Amino acid sequence: MSIDLHTHSTVSDGTLTPTELVKLAKDVGLDAIALTDHDTYSGVAEAMEAGKEFGIEVIPGCELSLESPDGAGWMHVVALWIPEDPEELKTAFDWVIEGRKTRNHEIIDILRTQGISITYEAVAARAQGTIGRPHFAQELVSLGVCSSINEAFKVWIGDDGRAYVPKRKLKPKQAMDILNNIGATSILAHPFALGLNFTKTEALVRELMKMGLDGMEVHYSEHNEAATKGFKEMAERLGLLVSGGSDFHGTVKPKISLGKGKGGLHVPTELLEKMKADRRAKGLPV
Ligand code: AMP
Ligand code: ZN
Ligand code: FE
Ligand code: FE
Repeated sequence: MSIDLHTHSTVSDGTLTPTELVKLAKDVGLDAIALTDHDTYSGVAEAMEAGKEFGIEVIPGCELSLESPDGAGWMHVVALWIPEDPEELKTAFDWVIEGRKTRNHEIIDILRTQGISITYEAVAARAQGTIGRPHFAQELVSLGVCSSINEAFKVWIGDDGRAYVPKRKLKPKQAMDILNNIGATSILAHPFALGLNFTKTEALVRELMKMGLDGMEVHYSEHNEAATKGFKEMAERLGLLVSGGSDFHGTVKPKISLGKGKGGLHVPTELLEKMKADRRAKGLPV
């Protein structure tokens, strides 16, 4: 009895369409999944439809990248139960996506300056939705510039790479206000990616809670036993909802399987029941 509350489709940088993703979730025996594409919820309607067709619960969601404090790594928030037409969120995402366009052209310019004959059109052709760094990585491998996706990130487009360009991000308060206003359940994604020790992570989580954070991902593909235990204790101590997911992206992250992560992931279905109870108590739809 397990679920996966963090997945990506072709609408952002995954390789399965929302329908294929939902079908796979059914095939591997999950009770429910959340579709949480980066900076967009445009695959949600299709996924919900597929959920009805295949008989599996689909939670409408998305993933937001927030500006993180100095010294911290990635700060991402997974939003669950986003409403059908969240006007405020759409405006914010339009701003983010606009920034991505500029960024993508900047990355191309840097790579070309370095003698790589990559084109914007070729990268764009790899994306069905949002164009992101995984599409650059695929193209760099296909051009023979790198031998793997990993190398493409390490040498070129990763955060320490030669062609790294930061992306436009929402400020934490701004993002949390929007999520509160639209009645979404907000979950701090992959807390390990903040790159902080437990004490510093907790301080940051407490700040986010003041802004309305509802929960955190305890179960995650990249969390080892110690991380899972530490984050679970933290969530319980702070009274946060416990969530979890694989961050499945299809073949761009071949080691991560839907629902199973790198093999040992298990996100119990009862966590979803607790989230629903919390929403009902707040008068929010489930
Ligand atoms: P972007 O939103 O364009 O900055 O791209 C972020 C995506 O790149 C996320 O799906 C990350 O998981 C992925 N990513 C970041 N670093 C790496 C890496 N070293 N190897 C593979 N994927 C990565
Ligand atoms: Zn992604
Ligand atoms: Fe993320
Ligand atoms: Fe993700």
